Amino acid sequence: MHELGIVMNVIEQVDKVAKERGAEKVLKVTMEVGEVSTVVPSLFTDAFDWAKKRTEYQKDAELELIIIEGRTYCQTCGETYKTTSHGKICPFCGSKDTYLLTGDQVIIKDIQAVFGEGE
Ligand SMILES: [Zn+2]
Repeated sequence: MHELGIVMNVIEQVDKVAKERGAEKVLKVTMEVGEVSTVVPSLFTDAFDWAKKRTEYQKDAELELIIIEGRTYCQTCGETYKTTSHGKICPFCGSKDTYLLTGDQVIIKDIQAVFGEGE
């Protein structure tokens, strides 16, 4: 399960941001996860729930995953199509001269935190 490695990385980054900005605690972490990324959302959520207990700021944090659809562009006919339905072969012209436009990202989109007195 490589999700745990990614989660540890995310948690580290979020804790660092929370500390830098003087947050008291993190309420919610929102992430964009592409549907053709290597991350399985349920495993990712499980790993996050396990790992957050060991953090300084994210013990009670909620994780929201926004799933981004995989879209592939065909360089032969210029169409875009849903990657999970057709893979690398364009359904419009049959070309294999295609590349992924979006859908493989795993990024931190937003962090909601509580700030203490005097902020
Ligand atoms: Zn095409």
